[in-house]
Amino acid sequence: MGGDEIGAALKVLILGGTREARQLAGLATGERGFDVVSSLAGRVARPVLPAGAVRVGGFGGVRGLRDWLADNGIEVIVDATHPFAATISAHAAQAARMTGVPILQLRRPGWPQQPDDHWLRVPDMAAAAAAAAGFERVFLTIGRQHVGEFADLDETWFLIRAIDPPTGPVPPQHLLLLARGPFTVEQEIALLREHRIDALLTKDSGGDLTEAKMTAARHEGIPVIVVDRPPLPAGADHTDTVAGAWDWLCARSGRDRIPAETDGPVVGLEGI
Ligand code: NAP
Repeated sequence: MGGDEIGAALKVLILGGTREARQLAGLATGERGFDVVSSLAGRVARPVLPAGAVRVGGFGGVRGLRDWLADNGIEVIVDATHPFAATISAHAAQAARMTGVPILQLRRPGWPQQPDDHWLRVPDMAAAAAAAAGFERVFLTIGRQHVGEFADLDETWFLIRAIDPPTGPVPPQHLLLLARGPFTVEQEIALLREHRIDALLTKDSGGDLTEAKMTAARHEGIPVIVVDRPPLPAGADHTDTVAGAWDWLCARSGRDRIPAETDGPVVGLEGI
């Protein structure tokens, strides 16, 4: 397996939908020694595309992914999906085990709690809904997929922000704000004030693209209900930086590490 001076390129599948996945695809695409395809679920109507080859849509469960890996001669997988995309991560880990294809999990760290933060950590969306019931005006920034979990809360008003509209049930009292970050701290403070928000509700997604809301809540002294990350499947290599993933890929390809600048500016509107 793997490329050498004159050998074949290493066939890499990057499971994406995150900025880190795009950064990694940007590093490896076009580099001698790598043949990269990025995979997106197809959830967002107008996704930000990574450099290089892209496929879109589910694989059809673990078996579908296993077959896809074999059919496409994939030699290594980088699971760079969002920290809350637990199903595809579990499928990737299982398919890697079934096929013997090495896999790396790339996950950015969660947000660190600061001394001035009033956080209420909850294990899942059901617990988040129970916590939200204790507030009057909640800023709900969890994307559109789990908004239905809050649909029974008829005494709490929600400001729901998502890239695309929720398709299922929604809470009876709400305002829907369709927007894609990144947002500035000033914008987030203005939103909290305009809508007299008394709690922010978010996943512990981590990353600086959506961190402004956390800074804004801290500034305004507003409590934050933080949904903890689901556990990662066991048995895979792990890194929390793009640089670490790049090192891993270079090592797998059997070539020296190629120096890479991974902290450059974000280009275009990013998926979160
Ligand atoms: P999920 O619940 O873990 O996965 C559900 C199903 O969607 C999977 O079983 C798979 O379908 C398909 N899928 C997910 N990610 C895929 C990918 N990268 N390529 C091909 N198929 C994929 O996933 P999710 O939470 O809906 O997230 C979907 C995508 O959005 C991911 O790429 C993730 O990185 C990105 N994203 C998620 C969040 C979030 O908060 N969850 C936030 C920002 C971006 P099959 O079983 O048919 O293969």
